[in-house]
Amino acid sequence: MERKIVLSEKDLPKAWYNVQADLPKPLPPVIRPDTKKPISPDDLAPIFPMALIEQEVSQSRWIEIPEEVKEVLSLYRPTPLYRAHNLERAIGTKAHIYYKNESFSPPGSHKPNTAIAQVFYNKREGVKRITTETGAGQWGSALAFACKMFEVECTIYMVKVSYEQKPYRRLLCQSWGATMFPSPSDQTNFGRRVRQENPDCPGSLGIAISEAIEDAVTHHDTKYSLGSVLNHVLMHQTVIGLETEKQLSLLGEKPDVLIGCVGGGSNFAGLILPFVPRKLNGEKIRFIAVEPQSCPTLTKGLYKYDFGDTACTTPLLKMFTLGHSFIPPGIHAGGLRYHGAAPIVSHLLELGLIEAVAYHQTECFQAAVLFARTEGFLPAPETSHAIKAVIDEAKDAPKGKVIVFNYSGHGLLDLAAYDSYFQNKLQDYAYPKEKIEEALRELPAVE
Ligand SMILES: *Cc1c(COP(=O)(O)O)cnc(C)c1O
Repeated sequence: MERKIVLSEKDLPKAWYNVQADLPKPLPPVIRPDTKKPISPDDLAPIFPMALIEQEVSQSRWIEIPEEVKEVLSLYRPTPLYRAHNLERAIGTKAHIYYKNESFSPPGSHKPNTAIAQVFYNKREGVKRITTETGAGQWGSALAFACKMFEVECTIYMVKVSYEQKPYRRLLCQSWGATMFPSPSDQTNFGRRVRQENPDCPGSLGIAISEAIEDAVTHHDTKYSLGSVLNHVLMHQTVIGLETEKQLSLLGEKPDVLIGCVGGGSNFAGLILPFVPRKLNGEKIRFIAVEPQSCPTLTKGLYKYDFGDTACTTPLLKMFTLGHSFIPPGIHAGGLRYHGAAPIVSHLLELGLIEAVAYHQTECFQAAVLFARTEGFLPAPETSHAIKAVIDEAKDAPKGKVIVFNYSGHGLLDLAAYDSYFQNKLQDYAYPKEKIEEALRELPAVE
């Protein structure tokens, strides 16, 4: 009874898989809000290094992973694929449940898979400093770690209320040498203006994004980095699915269902994208994206052009969205509180190639605690959404049905959320129908 499949370092994927090469219909272009025309690489050059801009639109099926990137990835990759024997027994299923354990990276989630690649390409193009925003700190800590590995400076605008109330990931970022500012900060024109208008502003991800972008475009040796949503980010995450493919084939198992939680969509896509060609070739394989009921982008949003951020500073992306002005309720899975979903994930949903489901947070925490009490690992609140969907899929499953999910991160820095759950203080938010309808009325007028 094998419990985990561990690959050796030489099994680390040699290239990322780019699903754009195999899409039955190309992705809609990214659009400039002023001209309503597709953006050009020059529009993005002040923000991103050219190598990443090229990857964003590349149609090549495979893009080689540079040696330097593999070297850093090999600190924690390949990650093990676990068979969840104990969970299977506890829920009495005949299905085989597997989880790809991405919590073994130094920051504890899948996010460094792209942070490492992004910092490498920035460094190669002479960038000295990278800026970003972070909410609860998962992305900030992944970028801080990657920047330290390549000795690039890292500046992080952290939403002020999280900076003050959730010190542990801030301290993790600082341990890796990042410079942290509570946002709104006094470092940028935008931040200073917000502070002047509202000295007690608790900050928001939208404000922090605007500050990080302003910092990057006003310094010639500085660029900006994004942790999810964009095509190149999802592609960097395909190491997850590529390793999983190899691990399952070593076991002689063929996956029937692949499951991941969706914030921006990068860990879900990283697992499923390498399996999409099987579906296109007529194989019976399902992909399930799981989101919170309080921020139901894929299950209740519209497939429209929208801004990527609240402050309307980004180009327009065609995606499932709840409207850029929608501010989701403060659930504990902070990484799933994004108003949109990655254009690639949205496109796959529109084409009917993936499915989406939504759950409330208390039922997810219940699933997470069952997982911790059987498999031992304590999941991130985000990951608990995938686990809840897995348990539902496994109920009444025929013998030998293979269910694989992405264990996107651990919950060891989210213990306050578990505290709320154990004390019955956790609240389920009804689907915020009126607020979403209001936000959807503010979508930009582009078809
Ligand atoms: C950030 C995060 C997510 C959500 O982001 P995606 O881009 O959708 O993957 C999910 N799980 C964990 C542990 C995270 O840190």
